[in-house]
Formats: sequence, structure tokens, C-alpha cells
Amino acid sequence: MLTGWGRTAPSAGRVIDLDGDAVRGAPHEALPIDEGRGAIPRGLGRSYGDPAQNGGGSVLRVLPGRSPISLDRNAATVTADAGVSFDDLLRVLVPAGFFVPVTPGTRFITVGGAIASDIHGKNHHVDGTFGHHCTRISLLTADGELRTLTPADGDLWWATIGGMGLTGLIVDATFDLIPIETSQCLVRTQRIANFDALVDTMAADDQRYSVAWVDLLASGAALGRSVLTCGEHARLDDLSAKQRRDPLAFAPPSLIDVPRGGPNVLSRAAVRAFNEVWYRKARRDHVGPESITGFFHPLDMVGAWNRLYGGAGFLQYQFVVPDDEVDTMRVAIERVVASGHASFLAVLKRFGPANPAMLSFPTSGWTLTLDVPAAASDLHVLLSELDELVLGAGGRHYLAKDAHITPSIVRAGYPRLAEWKAVRRSVDPHGYWISDQARRLGLLEEEVA
Ligand SMILES: Cc1cc2nc3c(=O)[nH]c(=O)nc-3n(C[C@H](O)[C@H](O)[C@H](O)COP(=O)(O)OP(=O)(O)OC[C@H]3O[C@@H](n4cnc5c(N)ncnc54)[C@H](O)[C@@H]3O)c2cc1C
Repeated sequence: MLTGWGRTAPSAGRVIDLDGDAVRGAPHEALPIDEGRGAIPRGLGRSYGDPAQNGGGSVLRVLPGRSPISLDRNAATVTADAGVSFDDLLRVLVPAGFFVPVTPGTRFITVGGAIASDIHGKNHHVDGTFGHHCTRISLLTADGELRTLTPADGDLWWATIGGMGLTGLIVDATFDLIPIETSQCLVRTQRIANFDALVDTMAADDQRYSVAWVDLLASGAALGRSVLTCGEHARLDDLSAKQRRDPLAFAPPSLIDVPRGGPNVLSRAAVRAFNEVWYRKARRDHVGPESITGFFHPLDMVGAWNRLYGGAGFLQYQFVVPDDEVDTMRVAIERVVASGHASFLAVLKRFGPANPAMLSFPTSGWTLTLDVPAAASDLHVLLSELDELVLGAGGRHYLAKDAHITPSIVRAGYPRLAEWKAVRRSVDPHGYWISDQARRLGLLEEEVA
């Protein structure tokens, strides 16, 4: 029985582990025979909804082979098996003086999942998405062929990046790295009083990484009050003498694991208290070093934190609106605040331009991410209002987070969906690759003109 990270919509599938080396050796024998419900690749299940599950069908995990990570120091590139986690990668790369080109808010995702969702990080406005930094992918397609793709392959390349595992199973990939002098980041933390000040500050920001935590319970003059963190990889000169003794040390801590079966402890009162403390504990304006874990992956210090929402789970709702729709973003925040739906994780970020991938989510503008308990009353009312605002502004929703949108919403948000479907069909005419999300959103269905 599988779910995504939000723990909603479970479905039972046959989970099959494939050995990466075996797939490379005999790709034609690797794919299980379709028993009528197809197959979908799965990484570490950190997408929030149902893209990595396939009720009644097969769910394929490609396990790292014997030498899963191959670093080319001179070229500043790495070739990694698709099942390698960012946790494993960083433990090799950071001590060697490199960082992944893009990281999400957790290091417990795989290379395959990063490409299939075309993930973005705090540096999207400077560096673009993960797919932008890939130079080669091996893809096992539905006909059992292992294809080597590069950006020169055009359509199939760009349909695979952000393609949610529906063009085939990524077996390994090569991508560029960021050289680093230290494993610390130099981070500026600023308390920002309201939404207008936040947007102005973020628009003027020229740091490589930036993201704002927003208090979605603050209203009136304090609407959009936030804590903005901007940073760069620290140089050797930025470190203290003690830190300079082992400047590339990387030992991410894991503090506690949330136990199974607990109730939803993220009540409105708890979230209000959390938000107040979070805002107050941030310094007004401070610059200092932070570890990679503290800056990029703070949630990883609490294992299985998704259980905090209780058995019903939670939705993560993430959308983007274009640059000139800042007012829509303000209205969206007002609606969430007025609905009273508690969100202890709410993040605002500025995106740079989109890439050519047809289903890639990021596009020039502003993106907001919020968590809502799935059992919250009248949740559908709030989400429908937000959907209308987002689509009305020419925006869209992130498929890796989605557990709620409909076929018409995805069609409106992704104008190149029909193009993507045609490319997908050219390599998988019978729909071997399919997920619960693909069924829910009609991603395999032919578009009618
Ligand atoms: C705490 C947290 C923070 C996050 N922060 C961010 C963020 O800042 N930015 C961001 O972009 N995302 C973020 N995410 C989402 C996450 O990065 C993506 O959902 C990512 O795809 C998860 O990778 P995974 O290996 O767990 O893949 P899964 O969730 O297992 O699968 C996701 C998709 O990838 C496909 N897939 C997986 N492996 C392969 C493969 N080998 N070949 C082909 N397709 C494959 C699956 O079929 C599925 O469609 C966050 C998630 C969490 C839990």
C-alpha cells in the first residue's frame, strides 16, 4: 500500500526492485509484463500526492548498482544511478568540494525523482531547474530499449524532464555540479513586516539562494509578514579559524523520528504559536554562516514529520503566477488567511524563466507553497477559490505536490500538454507507463481539438 509524502489517497501496487546494473546489462528483460495496469517508476516517495503509485499495477524502483556515483572533478560533473539519493550524493560530493546544482527542501529524494519532477530550489531565479543542468540520461522505454538521451534529442529529452516518470524509467544521468570551497553557507536573515516589503526586497535580491517563510495567520497591516533568508556558498575566508580546519565537513544530524499513529498535532492553536515563535526568534537583520542542513534541509532533522498531520494526512498546495500578478498573490494570501486554514509551512519564492520542458512547473514569477491538513473542513472551498485565482492569472500548479487538481485545471495551466502527450505516445503508444496521478488527470488521454 503506497502513498506520497502527504499520506493521502493510498493504493496497492506490486512493488518491484530492479537492479540498476541488471537493467543496463539486459534492458529488454528488465520490464515486468504488463498485467493490464501498467507500471510507474518510484524513487523515495517524497512527491506529496499520487504520481509515484499505480493502484493495481506495478511500481518500479531502480536500485543503485555497484558503482552508483562517478565524479569527474575536472569537468565538475557527476554520473549517478537514478536510485541514488541526494543524501548519498552529498556525502560524496560535499567533502570533494562540490554541491548539487539544485536541491529541494529535503535530501531524501532520488536523482530519478529530481529529473522526473524537474525540481527547483532556492536558486531557481539564478540557476533554473535540475533538468537544466542535466547533460545525459539513460531512459528505459516501454519497448524495452535503453536509450541514451542528450539535450540534442529535443522532444523526448524535454518530455522526460518534468515528465513524471511517464516517458520511461530513468536508469542513470549525468549532470553539472557547483564547485564549493566550504560546506557552509553565508546567510542573511531578515524579518520582513508585510507582503509589499517582502516582494520589494525579493525583487531587488541578487543572492544565489533566497526564500521567504510567510506567516499565513498574520492579517491586516501584518499580512504577509515573513522571514526572508538569502545566501551563497561560504568562501574559505568567511569561516572562523576553527571551521577552516575542516572546511568541507558534512555530517547532517537527524534528531528525532515522529512516531507512527499519533493524532494531528498541528492544530490551529499550535500553528499560531509556532508561527509567532518562528517570526520572533528570527533576528531583524543578521548575516552569519549556516550548515547545508540548516540552510537547505532543516526539516530533515525531524524524521517522518509528515506523521504530525495524523492519519488523514495533508495536502501541499504549490502554484506559480507570472511576475506581473503580484496582486493575485496578495489576494491568494488574503484568502488563505481569511479561511483560517493553518499552515505551518508556507514559503514564497521568486522564479526565473521557464526551460523548454513541456511539463516543467517553474516559470518566471512568484510561487507559494502551503501545507493544509487533508481533514480541514471546507478545504475544497478554499482550494477551488485558489485554483480560480491561479488559472485566471495565467499560473499553474506543481504536479510533484499535487493531490487535488483535475484534468481541466492541468490543461489550463500547462498549455503545451497536448504536445507532451504526442511525444509520450510516440515512445509508449499503449500506455505502459501510468500512475494514479496520470489516471486522475487524464495525462495519457488523447487531447480532442
Ligand atoms: C520536505 C520536502 C521538501 C521538498 N521541497 C521541494 C522543493 O524545494 N522543490 C521541489 O521542486 N520539490 C520539492 N519537494 C518535492 C520533491 O523534490 C519531488 O517530489 C521529487 O520528485 C521527489 O523525489 P523522489 O525520488 O522521492 O520521487 P518520487 O516521489 O518517488 O516520484 C516522483 C515522480 O518521479 C518519478 N520518478 C521517480 N524515479 C524515477 C525514475 N528512476 N525514472 C523515471 N521517473 C521517476 C515518479 O514516477 C514520480 O512521477 C519536496 C518534498 C519534500 C518531502
